[in-house]
Amino acid sequence: MIAAPRLQASGRAFAHIAAFYPELTAFRRDLHVHPELGFEEVYTAGRVQEALRACGVDEIHAGIGKTGVVGVIRGRSTTSGRMIGLRADMDALPMREDNDFAWRSANDGLMHGCGHDGHTAMLVGAARYLAETRNFDGTAVLIFQPGEEGFAGARVMIEDGLFDRFPVQSVYAMHNWPGMPAGTVGINRGAMMAAADRITIEITGKGGHGAHAYLTVDPVVASAHIITAVQSIVSRNVRPIDAAVVSICAMQAGDLGAMSVVPGSATLVGTVRTFSARVQALVEQRLGELCSSVAAGFGATATIRYERIYPATINTAPEAMFAADVAESLVGAPNVDRNMEPSMGAEDFSFMLQKKAGAYLRIGQDARGGAFLHNSRYDFNDDILPLGAALHAGLIEQGMPLATDTSAAFSATVAPATA
Ligand SMILES: [Zn+2]
Ligand SMILES: [Zn+2]
Repeated sequence: MIAAPRLQASGRAFAHIAAFYPELTAFRRDLHVHPELGFEEVYTAGRVQEALRACGVDEIHAGIGKTGVVGVIRGRSTTSGRMIGLRADMDALPMREDNDFAWRSANDGLMHGCGHDGHTAMLVGAARYLAETRNFDGTAVLIFQPGEEGFAGARVMIEDGLFDRFPVQSVYAMHNWPGMPAGTVGINRGAMMAAADRITIEITGKGGHGAHAYLTVDPVVASAHIITAVQSIVSRNVRPIDAAVVSICAMQAGDLGAMSVVPGSATLVGTVRTFSARVQALVEQRLGELCSSVAAGFGATATIRYERIYPATINTAPEAMFAADVAESLVGAPNVDRNMEPSMGAEDFSFMLQKKAGAYLRIGQDARGGAFLHNSRYDFNDDILPLGAALHAGLIEQGMPLATDTSAAFSATVAPATA
């Protein structure tokens, strides 16, 4: 038995969607029971298509970017020629779930630890409302994306012709955020998430006996100096008003069972996070210079592989402020942070924002026991399903308004969001 959502918001879209909250919640929990890794979202994509069919959307396109699905809904009128995209990610994480509620993962070693089950359900909720009401002038393109968690599913969908087939003018996505109260929305007019790059540094020396280290070129000592030296990039090369992180997170050298064997090589792996291409290029350049010169100083050699994994997620200002207006119409100005601090985390929606105007929002979902994203006790908060769905719907209705629509429904008195 699923009770009504505890969270209230304004507007006809919210009221309409809140009426089928129990079904939306059941749908979300079913996805939670069946988590799937990136590009393996066969069950999930099947459930999405089934739901879209039941909603009566105009077109369903499966298999875009392997397991991606796109639903198309035309408004009551399409004379505006406008087309707006909404994106939800569908994949889960390779981690064990430590929750014990009825809808815990049934797939051992896999868990919806980032709430993408909720993102998918919110977009399905918007699809149902938009297909039933069609109070907009244009075309809504609902993008159910695979493989956000490290697989660059957004890029794969784009490479598979997503925006050629569905030439949207703008695209929006949202992510639940446990650090924010339910009923609040956060956004800003620029950088929301950082670029995430992977660095792999191979240090090669000359192995030998630990008791006769003077006969070796010790890659462990060279590595230690490299680890320390690269910390000077952020403090001494990057301008203090620019943001950057350089973290060496893994190192491998020698054998733990061999206390007297100096290994011949060592490997360091880490990540670089930046917001601007200029800072990213600077960090990459300094990493190369420091690694090779520090290694050379010890008679060793270092090679660095610098891989750009996800670009920075940068909102376009007009679309971001429009999205903030839509959020305000639902939860009221005090519950919308228009100057949200960016996060050094990363998000592959960035690939879509490299191609299209648009915005990425955060939707609060409460701390709920302090389990942040990717925690084994995390769960998506079903109370925010109608709000997230109504926010998606509002982006369509207010972004492509009908000429005859007075939009009075959006000027209703805003009830305070309570959680
Ligand atoms: Zn995640
Ligand atoms: Zn996520």
